[in-house]
Amino acid sequence: MKKYLEEANKNVSISSKGWAVDSKDSKFKAYSFTRHPLGAKDILIEILYAGICHSDIHNARSEWAPGIYPMVPGHEIAGRVIAVGKDVKKFKVGDYAGVGCMVNSCGECEPCKQSNEQFCENGVVFTYNSVDRFHDDIVTYGGYSDNIVVSEDFAITVPKEADIQKVAPLLCAGITTYSPLKFSKIKKGDKVAVAGFGGLGLMAVKYALKLGAEVSVFARNKNKEKEALELGVKALYDSPDPKKIKDRFDLILSTIPTKYDLTPYLELLKVGGELAIVGLPPSADHVGVELSTLVFKANKKVYGSLIGGIKETQEMLDYSVANNIYPEIELITADKIDMAYENLTNGKAKFRYVIDMKKSI
Ligand code: NDP
Ligand code: ZN
Repeated sequence: MKKYLEEANKNVSISSKGWAVDSKDSKFKAYSFTRHPLGAKDILIEILYAGICHSDIHNARSEWAPGIYPMVPGHEIAGRVIAVGKDVKKFKVGDYAGVGCMVNSCGECEPCKQSNEQFCENGVVFTYNSVDRFHDDIVTYGGYSDNIVVSEDFAITVPKEADIQKVAPLLCAGITTYSPLKFSKIKKGDKVAVAGFGGLGLMAVKYALKLGAEVSVFARNKNKEKEALELGVKALYDSPDPKKIKDRFDLILSTIPTKYDLTPYLELLKVGGELAIVGLPPSADHVGVELSTLVFKANKKVYGSLIGGIKETQEMLDYSVANNIYPEIELITADKIDMAYENLTNGKAKFRYVIDMKKSI
């Protein structure tokens, strides 16, 4: 029996092996650590696949705020349940399960009651780089590892027919793009543009097409034009020039992770159109909204969106599996994480890297 399973059964701290950076400039190294014991409402998941999100890069490199090191990133987790606490109802041993960006919240404030746990007024506990106030303030470690223990309330059920290799990115890239498309009530015939055509952008395109929208893409070059057109995208533009582009959009969803100018995107909206921001460039690269554009160019709405609540994440996962909507992935082993980070930063990546955990341990 695996050591971590024995520990879960004995109700002691659970040993994990993962990959961590120990400073914002360091490379990934093998790292052993422990997770909290299996509580009555917790499940222990053997991690099979972990997606690499650009947020992992922002966090590992302290681009948004100083990180907590050593840091084991990873908030796109798909695996198999191997132990359950005595009060667990949603899962049994052998089921697939997913974990996204959060592992706990108070459950009592207004946002939590509405299943907007990501906005918990008492502070959400993120999957990694976070202090877990529900477990003696231990630091949380993410999915670039062999197991995770989490409350069943923050685990997502994954149907057994799911294409499990491709499920992990749904837990962040999927929900983060599904949620604003729903919030903006996108329907058949709406004109949607997706800015940034990477891990999130691809999912946004797939969901928007499924909702019946006419979809365009803004990228920083034409490298992935063929892929976009094959999906049914109307056009891929390599620059958002309102003078050259005739279309005006109901919604532009920006997934851009680098410094850029918002003004042309505001100009590309219809009157009353919406600009949803999910991409979050490093905090040093301030991106601002031109108030004069908002005022003079007619009732444009700008909003930010943060992942999605647990209820909506479950809805997105069931919808994605039922409609065969998955990311495009490249499977790698953990010794290639540094290479993946470089490629994602330098424009050499396609869509999503996923770490094959079984081949990495
Ligand atoms: P990726 O690196 O996979 O994709 C980003 C894409 O944006 C790449 O295709 C990149 O192009 C493109 N891009 C970069 N700069 C520009 C530009 N100026 N104009 C147009 N396209 C550009 O990242 P992810 O999809 O994983 O994440 C995107 C962002 O979303 C990150 O900032 C991440 O932190 C954030 N995020 C936010 C969440 C939320 O809840 N709000 C949740 C998850 C992620 P190229 O192909 O050339 O590299
Ligand atoms: Zn993410």
